[in-house]
Amino acid sequence: MVTVADTTRWLQAYAREIDTHAAELTELDSVIGDADHGSNMSRGMGFVKEALESAEFDSLDLLCKKVGMTLVSRVGGASGALYGTFFLRMAGALGSETDVSPQSLGDALKAGVAGIQERGKAQPGDKTMVDALQPAVTAYAAAVTDGGDLKAALAAAAAAADEGRDATTPMQARKGRASYLGERSIGHQDPGATSAALLIRTAAETLG
Ligand code: ADP
Ligand code: MG
Repeated sequence: MVTVADTTRWLQAYAREIDTHAAELTELDSVIGDADHGSNMSRGMGFVKEALESAEFDSLDLLCKKVGMTLVSRVGGASGALYGTFFLRMAGALGSETDVSPQSLGDALKAGVAGIQERGKAQPGDKTMVDALQPAVTAYAAAVTDGGDLKAALAAAAAAADEGRDATTPMQARKGRASYLGERSIGHQDPGATSAALLIRTAAETLG
């Protein structure tokens, strides 16, 4: 089972990972965007970290709701609204439980990704964070269906997210700022897919 404390550890670890990789994320965004993805994420996860430290959460939905609201309200840029929506939709799927099964966590992650797609209208192949997240939730669900435990499902998700991130390099961007570059967006890794793969990898390292 995945508890409130586990989820808190995941997000705290993600905040640290984002700080470690902030320069790299901004560098990627400087090539096909406006050079702020690292600072957007770092700022957002900094506020999330503060929120996690300043309150106790009685259930997973309250925790995810707080994280989502914080990202939506405190981060400028597309990524704040999109990651915020991810956690708000997770909250909606989780309900007021204090722990969830691997299956329910997978359902919540899937709902989160569906929320990003509804909000941003990106399909797989559009060179966005969806290209890392969508394969991740699909691989997670497949691992659970095959009888895998949480560790196996998260490991499969993390590998699929890394592959999805790498697959963004040859794509032409069709959503977000990078799409303004047209064909010139080809040949560069998407920053949002990079931060998204980190989110899933961190989940595998802290929850699995
Ligand atoms: P901004 O583009 O507003 O400067 P960021 O630089 O923080 O915001 O985030 C850029 C990332 O957001 C992109 O690399 C991409 O992965 C993601 N993104 C942008 N638009 C969309 C969208 N419509 N759907 C999904 N992801 C998107
Ligand atoms: Mg940007």
